[in-house]
Amino acid sequence: MQKVVEYIQKIYNTTEFIPLHEPRFIGNEKAYLNQCIDSTFVSSVGQYVDTLEQEFAKYTGSKYAVATVNGTSALHISLLLAEVKQDDEVITQPLTFIATCNAISYIGAKPVFVDVDLDTMGLSPKSLKNFLENNCKLINQQCINKTTNKVIRACVPMHTFGHPCKIAEIKEICDNWNIALVEDAAESLGSYYKGRHTGTFGKLGAFSFNGNKIITSGGGGIIVTDDEVLARKAKHLTTTAKVPHLYEYVHDEIAYNYRMPNINAALLVAQMENLEKFLQSKRELADIYKDFFATLQMKFVMEPIESCSNYWLQAILFDNLEQRNQFLEYTNKNGVMTRPIWKLMNELEMFKYCQTENLENAKYLEDRIVNIPSSVRI
Ligand SMILES: *Cc1c(COP(=O)(O)O)cnc(C)c1O
Repeated sequence: MQKVVEYIQKIYNTTEFIPLHEPRFIGNEKAYLNQCIDSTFVSSVGQYVDTLEQEFAKYTGSKYAVATVNGTSALHISLLLAEVKQDDEVITQPLTFIATCNAISYIGAKPVFVDVDLDTMGLSPKSLKNFLENNCKLINQQCINKTTNKVIRACVPMHTFGHPCKIAEIKEICDNWNIALVEDAAESLGSYYKGRHTGTFGKLGAFSFNGNKIITSGGGGIIVTDDEVLARKAKHLTTTAKVPHLYEYVHDEIAYNYRMPNINAALLVAQMENLEKFLQSKRELADIYKDFFATLQMKFVMEPIESCSNYWLQAILFDNLEQRNQFLEYTNKNGVMTRPIWKLMNELEMFKYCQTENLENAKYLEDRIVNIPSSVRI
């Protein structure tokens, strides 16, 4: 363990505290922020929001992008546009950040937890198919859960730490069962599955630009979709449903103030310009870690097959809980920040009454995965 701490200090060229992930501002951030302030357009409208939406759509290969105030709101709106309603059910993975389940809950819908794959740490198409075949039936083109008699309206897989899950296979299953696919791509900007950008397989995809993500706007999120009507609705719902007019205030439905301020977009436009550099640095870091942990006979988590990961958060896999805990204790006491993967969602107070399938793989990973320092080295 001492060797690991010393090596990470060498990689980051410091003996001071090493955080898990910190942002890098090495480009036009200050220039664009200044421009933003000088123009007085710091708030809800401005050129940077428009530029960001265009650049982001282009980068991910989706037709439309709508910026939001954070990733959770992007997920919330995506689920509403996937027509998830109160008392519906939404299939997701138990191994995810709380925001996925919060967004489902805001609508009054309930998560149903299906297991992950060991190699991707994301929703398993095989478990999904088994769950649907064993528990559900199609009635009037709706997927009905036979146990609860509720409609399973949507499925939200997540690309854990930037490693793509088997999203094309998941999409095919969802299509067969008439379940809307919404991707939680909060962690996977710059990650591809079979050559296609994550977040663009589903009806809608949600990304996050929180301070710890691969690029940041301080706080922020974005929705991507290829559907023009949904994109227009996303804009409308995130901007208080105001009907465009020169001076009148008319709103045509109850909606949300979920827009991204121009000042946050200014920061993000500058961050986007360096995304390729960040991605390259993260792949290099993954190679360095892979070789180093091999010399210690420790398991470093590599990108799954048929995918290209952004390696947002680097991870190692322990043989058991005890070793994991010893490592967490030692590294955090010695100035190197490390963190266990999330506690499973179905173990949290709010979600422990939700239906679960066999969650063997999720439990296995919960006890063994640890994230190690992953900041871009520039
Ligand atoms: C970061 C993240 C989100 C969104 O988080 P915000 O802080 O609201 O931007 C959603 N899901 C996952 C899996 C995340 O990691």
